[in-house]
Amino acid sequence: MGIELQNITKKFTGYTALDNISLNVASGELVALLGPSGCGKTTLLRIIAGLELPDSGKIILENKDTTNLPPRKKNVGFVFQHYALFRRLNVFDNVAFGLRVLPLRDRPSRSEISDRVEHLLKLVQMDWAIKRYPSQLSGGQRQRVALARALAVNPKVLLLDEPFSALDAKVRQELRRWLRKLHDEIHITSIFVTHDQEEALELADRIVVINKGRIEQLGTPQEVYDHPVNAFVYNFLGNVNVFHGRIKNGKVSLGTHHVDAPDELKHTEEKPSQAFVRPHEIGISRIRSNETDLTGTIREIRLMGGQIGLNIECDEFKEAIDAEIPRELYQNLQLAKGEKVFISLNRVKVFTGDYEI
Ligand code: ADP
Ligand code: MG
Repeated sequence: MGIELQNITKKFTGYTALDNISLNVASGELVALLGPSGCGKTTLLRIIAGLELPDSGKIILENKDTTNLPPRKKNVGFVFQHYALFRRLNVFDNVAFGLRVLPLRDRPSRSEISDRVEHLLKLVQMDWAIKRYPSQLSGGQRQRVALARALAVNPKVLLLDEPFSALDAKVRQELRRWLRKLHDEIHITSIFVTHDQEEALELADRIVVINKGRIEQLGTPQEVYDHPVNAFVYNFLGNVNVFHGRIKNGKVSLGTHHVDAPDELKHTEEKPSQAFVRPHEIGISRIRSNETDLTGTIREIRLMGGQIGLNIECDEFKEAIDAEIPRELYQNLQLAKGEKVFISLNRVKVFTGDYEI
């Protein structure tokens, strides 16, 4: 096993930042920790790296209990959110730094250091910038150098704390694809922290969804996206419309609209429930195609790349509905603001409980 976390708990003056977190990351796996700001992601990474001690629990790295080891003995590479390159050192010296400060008996020779740094800079595609200083690099380039620096000491485990979050959307997307490819080449056991669900879905072998210091769900991107275990996960993984309704006699009533309750809730007693529908799971039509169709008026039309976003005031609900439809359909239907449409809810996910959005 690459990383084993056993019942990690951490409190800050009465506030529980991590509440009994257990997690196994296989050797060579890339796991994303996904959760909102303040849910404990950085605290967990710092504990794995030895920068912080847990109140209780164990951290086992490559089958060795490292719970009480100082950071330098843990053999962990860390890339931070904000570029932590040494401003006064050039790219080469930044990457070589960790090797040059090793105790003499562990330190490679000058030529070995030089070979290793050059190899790593090629790997992160920054070998052309070997003599540059951090101020002469873009944000994305700096983070690639930071990654090479973290890899220089041959860590067993790589921890990345929102490494791309300070970059603009396009660069962020490029870098996440690049990192995924790099990981496929070097297979270092990695934990990647992010609050961006798209980043986690695209990058990770598995995703750990965290909320308020607890794990809500653990699974492959497909599992957590298609089968979220609760309303929090569903909501956090993408845009959603939420309808407040009631479950009764195997049906969920949403205003005048009724849908079948999911199997596991078919026989439950009457209670409040929430129905979730993703914007792309909403069908829009000029004609009523189904008895259960809702009706509404288009209030807003937004261009979103290949999709068109519609905000619709629904006749049956208080809540406005956000729908996303392909641009082609939008053109075929010749929709415009103020017009009436029929709305079908193609895939409704129902949860009970008192989760508040
Ligand atoms: P995330 O990285 O998910 O945004 P953090 O791990 O940084 O969250 O923080 C989790 C919670 O613990 C937050 O409420 C934060 O304010 C609190 N916290 C983190 N570090 C400390 C600290 N050194 N002292 C007190 N509270 C802290
Ligand atoms: Mg953080």
